[in-house]
Amino acid sequence: MSNEPIMPVTDRPLLMVMSAPSGAGKTTLCQKWLAQSERLVYSVSCTTRKPRPGETDGKSYHFLAESDFVERVARGDFLEYARVHGNYYGTLKETVLEALRKGLDIVMAIDVQGAAAIRQQALSPDADPLIRNGYADIFVVPPSFAVLRERLTGRGTDAPDVIATRLKNAMGEVERWREYRYVVVNDDLAAAVGRLCAIRQAEHCRRSV
Ligand code: ADP
Ligand code: 5GP
Repeated sequence: MSNEPIMPVTDRPLLMVMSAPSGAGKTTLCQKWLAQSERLVYSVSCTTRKPRPGETDGKSYHFLAESDFVERVARGDFLEYARVHGNYYGTLKETVLEALRKGLDIVMAIDVQGAAAIRQQALSPDADPLIRNGYADIFVVPPSFAVLRERLTGRGTDAPDVIATRLKNAMGEVERWREYRYVVVNDDLAAAVGRLCAIRQAEHCRRSV
């Protein structure tokens, strides 16, 4: 009997795109998920929004002036970028490709426009194979809009008018959940992190495309 593997190696690093309305808990979920996972890194985005208390430059986001951001757009540095709630946000190509080239899984928490842009690239036959083969997307929803409002208010980081804009935008964003392969309800935090771990495991068992 041969000791050779029956299947060729089909596993590949994952590019996991997570979207959720602001305040649904994606930052908290990603922190917990990463803390209990190996070979999983977080894609640090660039933004022109001001840092919130407790946020660190280079860790939470790369905080850029609008002129720097626009310059980087022109240079073609972004895999995707979008204007969200009045600020620019973007994912650097290099951040994502560097992780995938090392064989690490990477998760990015980006809005529905950014996710749609990356999904479109992943479906293209010309896409970098690392992106085409690794792409998986997850939509995170709060249990209800009432809970979302409580979380946005409870976080204590945004002024009432900012919270009102984010809640209004959330109503439009959640209608796009059908575009995603997975939906996770962030009710109980530990349970929701468990679902994310299960999704990652399932994705590693999928055939590459
Ligand atoms: P997002 O990154 O999606 O904007 P955050 O991770 O900042 O959201 O979460 C918003 C607020 O909700 C935070 O105060 C966080 O502690 C809280 N939160 C997140 N997930 C849960 C949960 N499952 N149960 C209760 N509170 C939560
Ligand atoms: P926040 O200001 O609450 O950190 O983020 C606001 C919104 O911007 C969230 O929906 C978040 O997922 C999204 N976002 C964060 N980084 C990126 C990014 O790199 N690209 C896009 N398109 N959206 C992002």
